[in-house]
Amino acid sequence: MKISIFGNKVTESRNIAVIAIGVLVIVVLAAVARSKDEKMPAKNNQTYNQLTPEEERVIVNKGTELPFTGTYATNKAKGFYTCKRCDAPLYMSDNKFDSGCGWPSFDDGIEGAVKRIPDPDGQRTEIVCANCGAHLGHVFVGEGLTRKNIRHCVNSISMNFIPIEKTERAIFAGGCFWGVEYHFHKVRGVLQTTVGYTGGHSSNPTYEQVCSGTTGHREALEVVYNPALVSYEQLARLFFEIHDPTQVNGQGPDIGEQYQSEIFYVNDQQKEIAQKLIDILKLKGDKVVTRLVQAGTFWKAEDYHQDYYEKKHGSPYCHVYTKRF
Ligand SMILES: [Zn+2]
Repeated sequence: MKISIFGNKVTESRNIAVIAIGVLVIVVLAAVARSKDEKMPAKNNQTYNQLTPEEERVIVNKGTELPFTGTYATNKAKGFYTCKRCDAPLYMSDNKFDSGCGWPSFDDGIEGAVKRIPDPDGQRTEIVCANCGAHLGHVFVGEGLTRKNIRHCVNSISMNFIPIEKTERAIFAGGCFWGVEYHFHKVRGVLQTTVGYTGGHSSNPTYEQVCSGTTGHREALEVVYNPALVSYEQLARLFFEIHDPTQVNGQGPDIGEQYQSEIFYVNDQQKEIAQKLIDILKLKGDKVVTRLVQAGTFWKAEDYHQDYYEKKHGSPYCHVYTKRF
């Protein structure tokens, strides 16, 4: 009896020890996983895509793929090249050229998307994704290959390519376009944002003309996005949550018809989704005044308005995220 009890106790304490070790292992693994995450913080709450061992060799451990082996060295299709790890847009096909070196070559990156880091030996300059630090390749200056005289030599494996036919377009007007762009620029799956004027009657309008209220145009944002990563509904929801859709003829301190809340839909599906979201907000008691208008010509605004807050390292005065759905 005693032996039996003793035996049971031993089994019990063994079980407790096994459980304790198990819990300890889980705690340690969780801590290791957390410290890994902390080492590579994802901007904008982004998580990173899973990488294959070969992708990890190049992207994380700064390896190089063999020349003429990558998918995009000779790709001439129109579209966007994005970071394999975080999906940030890096290059546009317009800047791609054939250098004959066996790796994709670009004579410019998307503004602010690619960071340069001199190699410790001072010989070369590494290029990495400015958003997540993924290794892309190296940059060479002064080879005389293009007018810009720069060659970004990028590993195909560090990138994804989104053909222009696989992208979609959305246009939102919600007050000062600087603030609207600030929020959409950060969204994963958004490939390009352009501030401009639309909805009015004059061609090639200037900022001053639009501000004078005589053109009928709105300050608006054109968004080009990858529908495989972000849907129109997600974008439209964000639009309603970064401005006040109940303010008539203005937004915050900006008063005038050019600041009117409007969605310029490019197809009936967008119109239906936008209407559905307006109906949801109205059911909640919001007196939404956002108009739905068929998209017409979008006139790009002057360069100094593009990526305004990005360039100034500032944040908007009247576009603050507010949860509405
Ligand atoms: Zn990245």
